[in-house]
Amino acid sequence: MNGLLNWGSSAHWSPDERPCRYCGHPTHLRDERGTPADKVCAEDALAEVAGIVQTYSSQGQL
Ligand SMILES: [Zn+2]
Repeated sequence: MNGLLNWGSSAHWSPDERPCRYCGHPTHLRDERGTPADKVCAEDALAEVAGIVQTYSSQGQL
């Protein structure tokens, strides 16, 4: 297991460079929805969401 997403999948790579949705740098990588995103940027965003979910669930709000 390498991070939360399976970035080894060819679905995460495109021959076209597009600006990362998070930082705007050109990238060949795509996130799980096919949106251009660097691996590190997408994993940072996912970690943030996971942290929020964890906070809410520990407060019994989910
Ligand atoms: Zn980025």
